[in-house]
Amino acid sequence: MAFISSGYNPDKPMENRITDIGPRKYDEFYPAVIAKNKGKWLYHEILEPGVLVHVSETGDEVYTVRVGGCRLMSVTHIREICEIADKHCDGHIRFTTRNNIEFMVDSKDKLQPLKDDLSSRKFPGGSLKFPIGGTGAGITNIIHTQGWIHCHTPATDASGTVKATMDVLFSDFQDMRLPAHLRVSMACCLNMCGAVHCSDIAILGYHRKPPMLDHEYLDKMCEIPLAIAACPTAAVKPAKIELADGTKVNSVSVNKERCMFCGNCYTMCPSMPLADDVGDGIVLMVGGKVSNRISNPKFSKVVVAFIPNEQPRWPTMTATIKRIVEAYAKDANKYERLGEWAERIGWERFFEKCELEFTHHLIDDFRDPAYYTWRQTSNFKF
Ligand code: SF4
Ligand code: SF4
Repeated sequence: MAFISSGYNPDKPMENRITDIGPRKYDEFYPAVIAKNKGKWLYHEILEPGVLVHVSETGDEVYTVRVGGCRLMSVTHIREICEIADKHCDGHIRFTTRNNIEFMVDSKDKLQPLKDDLSSRKFPGGSLKFPIGGTGAGITNIIHTQGWIHCHTPATDASGTVKATMDVLFSDFQDMRLPAHLRVSMACCLNMCGAVHCSDIAILGYHRKPPMLDHEYLDKMCEIPLAIAACPTAAVKPAKIELADGTKVNSVSVNKERCMFCGNCYTMCPSMPLADDVGDGIVLMVGGKVSNRISNPKFSKVVVAFIPNEQPRWPTMTATIKRIVEAYAKDANKYERLGEWAERIGWERFFEKCELEFTHHLIDDFRDPAYYTWRQTSNFKF
């Protein structure tokens, strides 16, 4: 496409430059009923999966319809969201902290036409464009990351694993049959962008091979001390290397016995790539939560050390997740989050009920704190 200037002058880059103006103020976009009743809400109810009503002291009501969002979406799709908002909601919508979309109307008679409209829309492939759900004790949207769409450090894909998982768990997006809500999150490397470390179930991209070393370019591309300091197990040390042509260069060496494939050194140094088609895959973690309802917030814990990448549908991974969800749904008490359940029955029972293999990989071996994760009691079940 031929170049079309926005009015920016590259010869005078600082001229007419606008900066530090921040985001638009949130209340510019409030629906009228929200603006009027802000801070006056009395109570709310979940009318059905995906549909909420909030009632104000003034007697006003606002009905909210929550629909699944794929997070990664085209402008065409956003325009369709706007078209629906224009038709039913005076042009107003909002996105939730888990990237679902919420349409709000100020009276009950506007609810059914909105729901019918949303449910009727499908992509040519057959997927629902705006599935209603995500409320209460069910499974809502999966918080996820960039994957092979855009990042350079992933060990797996985000959008692909998430679509495969949501398809398998879809009935629980539109239902509220679980003991408590169950948060699933995904991160494609252990930078853990997002919420994998604090979710009921977490999908995590994992490497199993140490980085390769591009000695020829390493000293030219990398600040060597940063690569050394990037390693949590001190596997990287400076080294003088003689290339095939006899040139001596500064580089690093990696002690493979100490490397646990975190990929931090590659984040710091482009000459230490480690992605690998058969080496890379998925780790599953469970039992995290962020709320302080009943029990304190918890980290999620590793329960499956490795599942291979099986794109495009990751069948082993989705079947394992489904098994964990079903064991939890069957066994946990009302209001009990997955982590609370596992801690109450004991992790040895959790592995039994979820039919997961316990391998040595799951035993913490990272520095002094690892000791506190071992069992210093005779209290356990056979
Ligand atoms: S989790 Fe890792 S690979 Fe995924 S987007 Fe974040 S940094 Fe990139
Ligand atoms: S991948 Fe991680 S553990 Fe291995 S050398 Fe790099 S920083 Fe160290």
